[in-house]
Amino acid sequence: MQKKVAIIGAGITGLTAAYEILKKSEETGKPIEVKIFEKTSKPGGVFATEKVDGFLIEGGPDSFELYKPAPLELAKELGIEDEVIDANEEMHVTFLYINGKLQEIPRGLLGLVPQNLVALALCPYLSWKAKIRAGMEIFVPPVTNANHDISIAEFYKKRFGHEVFENVAEALFGSIYACIPETISLRTCWPRGVELEKQYGSLLRGMLKRRREVKKSKQSMTKAASMFKSFRNGMSSLIEKLVEKLPQGIIEYNKEATSLVKNAENGGYSVIFSDGTKYDADALIIATSPSYATAEIIRSIDKGISDMLLRIPFASSATVSLAYKKSEFNHPLNGFGFLVPRKEKTFVKASTWSSTKFAGRAPEDGVLIRCFVGNANEETIVYRSDEEILSAVLSDLKKIMGVTAKPLFHRIYRWYNAMPQYTLGHGDRVKFIEERERMHPGLFLVGNAYRGLGIGDCINEGRRAARSVSEFFKI
Ligand SMILES: Cc1cc2nc3c(=O)[nH]c(=O)nc-3n(C[C@H](O)[C@H](O)[C@H](O)COP(=O)(O)OP(=O)(O)OC[C@H]3O[C@@H](n4cnc5c(N)ncnc54)[C@H](O)[C@@H]3O)c2cc1C
Repeated sequence: MQKKVAIIGAGITGLTAAYEILKKSEETGKPIEVKIFEKTSKPGGVFATEKVDGFLIEGGPDSFELYKPAPLELAKELGIEDEVIDANEEMHVTFLYINGKLQEIPRGLLGLVPQNLVALALCPYLSWKAKIRAGMEIFVPPVTNANHDISIAEFYKKRFGHEVFENVAEALFGSIYACIPETISLRTCWPRGVELEKQYGSLLRGMLKRRREVKKSKQSMTKAASMFKSFRNGMSSLIEKLVEKLPQGIIEYNKEATSLVKNAENGGYSVIFSDGTKYDADALIIATSPSYATAEIIRSIDKGISDMLLRIPFASSATVSLAYKKSEFNHPLNGFGFLVPRKEKTFVKASTWSSTKFAGRAPEDGVLIRCFVGNANEETIVYRSDEEILSAVLSDLKKIMGVTAKPLFHRIYRWYNAMPQYTLGHGDRVKFIEERERMHPGLFLVGNAYRGLGIGDCINEGRRAARSVSEFFKI
């Protein structure tokens, strides 16, 4: 009999899982029925590309990173590689709003580990004391040990000193994870830091050594590829293409899964929906986010997993995109945007100058910027009215960039509990969930709550679920 797989959640994770399962089914000639159930009326989850009057607005993710190859691989496979665009590398400058003004982050300090000691020495917003302390990192004995997880903040402060952490690293980590670095697991979120310390005894030493090796290698002879990529018509191109490749009618929208029943006789699961209907499947992939959505669904069959899922916190944030007439905009937008360390106490935590970073984000006579407000440290702003959010953002932009122009229009996207926080002990929580998951043959939990939250990570999560289904069905 034809096997049936139910996937709950039509974000990038669930869609990738469906795509990979059907690909395998076609390759092996073993038909599998796949159904995706999505509680909203659209696919893509947090992907949200919107086109307004020649502006291309990204309400959710706006790019993916080259060092995580999955999105590019998937784009190639889907036949949209030629739609992938590079960020405008000539303008690859990021600013920091610090001590009341925007200051360029020296290129060698853009990564989490200083890559260039000269850049560190010349950095205008660090004191000499801080620079010397950071340089002394080479002599700091290992601060990690295999049995004990520590926070990113503790690790960074112990290795590079307090000031470099507060003035640089905190803003970088905060912009990636919308997090409070004091609460975030080093092992889960920055394994590379741990690895550099283990291998070289010092992150600086490791980084400088690796840079010398890369310089020597042939790669450095070719033009450096841009680290950030997107799609000409916006990130939702990836979602649209995935959906196009799936059989019609495979996704059922406005279908909210609420609980599960394990079928005693034939194995498998019944998914129960909020409208009172149910769907029986031999295997089930839960690709919902946030993890408390998954916790609710799974509670009826495993309270242990459900409780553990509830211990993975999520943070809320909002993106505010602002479109302006170029002629009225009094800032050169000469970079990719800016970050703000928390000590500056602004509402805007980071801003991307979208029309500089990627081509085609604004018409000839327009500019587009997008600001992030809210993070794990300060979520309340996300719950305020549109007027209040807009007014806070405009006032910050005036203070930070001197922008006085009135936007042509704005778009606010609120993301309630959309950013998983891999807090201390996250690795142990995921291990517990994985072990319990094995007690439910044919049930697979994937998504951004577990092993990585970037788009590349989520594509890998979808692939992981598809592999598990193939192994389970032995195809
Ligand atoms: C504002 C923002 C900006 C980001 N920027 C970037 C970026 O630039 N680059 C990058 O790599 N990553 C970025 N990320 C992270 C990345 O986009 C996400 O981690 C990833 O897209 C999550 O995909 P997902 O499929 O796991 O979850 P989601 O996209 O959240 O999809 C889960 C789906 O499950 C559905 N669902 C939930 N509960 C139920 C239920 N009970 N029944 C049925 N369906 C349900 C939801 O409606 C949703 O459609 C960003 C995230 C946010 C929020």
